[in-house]
Amino acid sequence: MMRQLTFVKPGQFEWQDVPAPRLMADTDAIVRPIAVARCDLDFYIAVGVVKYPGPFAFGHECVAEVVEAGPAAGVVPGQKVVVPFQLSCGRCDNCRKGWTNSCTAYPFAAAFGLKPTSGLESGGAFSDLLRVPFADHMLLPLPEGLDPLIAAGAGDNIADGYRGVAGPLAERPGGRVLVVGGLAQSVGLYAAGAAVALGAGEVLYLDDDSGRRARAESLGARVEPLGLDAGRTPSDQYDVVVEANGMPQALAFAVQSTGANGYLTSVAIHLAPETPIPLTRAYYKGLTFNTSRVHSRSTLPGVLECLACGKLKAEAVTHRCASFAEAPDALMDPGPKILFQP
Ligand SMILES: [Zn+2]
Ligand SMILES: [Zn+2]
Repeated sequence: MMRQLTFVKPGQFEWQDVPAPRLMADTDAIVRPIAVARCDLDFYIAVGVVKYPGPFAFGHECVAEVVEAGPAAGVVPGQKVVVPFQLSCGRCDNCRKGWTNSCTAYPFAAAFGLKPTSGLESGGAFSDLLRVPFADHMLLPLPEGLDPLIAAGAGDNIADGYRGVAGPLAERPGGRVLVVGGLAQSVGLYAAGAAVALGAGEVLYLDDDSGRRARAESLGARVEPLGLDAGRTPSDQYDVVVEANGMPQALAFAVQSTGANGYLTSVAIHLAPETPIPLTRAYYKGLTFNTSRVHSRSTLPGVLECLACGKLKAEAVTHRCASFAEAPDALMDPGPKILFQP
């Protein structure tokens, strides 16, 4: 048996004793999470803003230590590894194209710690042990010298911020970057940090929250309040824009702030049935607009390189470290990024 943190209903988590996972295939690995990060979405599930029915195993961003490995798992016991949150096989047509957010070997949107998105219970990061199938493809070694706590969110929120700027800046080296921060709290901050790390010519981070603005500033971005409620209108055009705010008016602002032939990525999950977008302006300017789930596994090598070189200071986003025992309460802490250790 082992301990597993289970989401029961909004505001209620329980540590439960459940059967420990065992190797079921040659490519399986059993890992022990040693550093876990709360995903931005986790907070909204925990407090009931995003309505996911319990019970299910919780937590999906972690660095872990290999405890047991099948003969074809490609890892060895004792090794520290980074775990992508989405399940992917590395073998299907989608995985081969790098589309690891939609691996066809699993139900659509299968992930650790998020059973309601796919219907598949795969275990969660707040557990003594986690079974990782296709470990030869899934798991990446933690780079030498990189603190497991700094890399804990690499498989999800850090990757999500990184992909909003890495691809576009490769097309537009030294480009000007705008991040509209907000509800996807840590993702927007990681996007700003990654843009600085990847050599953007300028990084402006807009957010009405002064605490997040201070963190963006320490990541090397210029910051201002967003101020849409105070009547702010777009006054400048950017090569690369990331919208992590989550409000429809912020997405419209982001569209209007994206320059000719620019790149806009919306990483906030817009939950309203319909979200108005000023498409005429987008058409005439020639926007490339992407809104999607990150490709957790295929984005990870670039993310780890960016973290390991020390240019992306992910630790500046973290507002609190806590123990697993504190998790049932701490998961409802409204700050931008909380990390946990067993
Ligand atoms: Zn997540
Ligand atoms: Zn696949």
